[in-house]
Amino acid sequence: MKFMILDRDGVIIKDKHYVHLVEDLELLPGALSGLGKLQNKLGFRFVVVTNQAGIARGLYATYEADQFNSEMTRRLGAFGIRVEKVYFCPHHPEFTGKCDCRKPKTGLVLQAAKEFGFNPSECVFVGDKDSDIQLGRNCGGVTVLVDNKQYAVSVAPDYIVGNLDELYSILAVR
Ligand SMILES: [Mg+2]
Ligand SMILES: [Zn+2]
Repeated sequence: MKFMILDRDGVIIKDKHYVHLVEDLELLPGALSGLGKLQNKLGFRFVVVTNQAGIARGLYATYEADQFNSEMTRRLGAFGIRVEKVYFCPHHPEFTGKCDCRKPKTGLVLQAAKEFGFNPSECVFVGDKDSDIQLGRNCGGVTVLVDNKQYAVSVAPDYIVGNLDELYSILAVR
């Protein structure tokens, strides 16, 4: 069983900063084709782990994040792509205090590992920020940066790709 731990914003969907309205949900180029091939040709199963500090900041509610995540899962599902579960951290240290689930902390990955029975160190971690790459490092897995030229990155990943379709191409020959 190969699991891929995916960040949401900037990896699967466009990062529009605290995006939470379904009408703003926009899949990134290469996401459908990439996830489809990663799943069907390479046998990956997908878990999404995302920081949603917009909840701690009072910008949107937990139920809105749930609705949004369900809609994303539904849209991917319409193309045969199965997301096992979306885990999110609703906290922010300045507003809600410290927690164990805000990336790069490993809380949500450990929870997923328990639920689905995988070893975090055998996972591929995909994200577009330092916190995603650091999460992968903290878990001892393979790290992939999706570089959207949106964020400055200082933690070196194992691979850098432009989108998920490119990630498939790289992992297919690894
Ligand atoms: Mg992101
Ligand atoms: Zn948290």
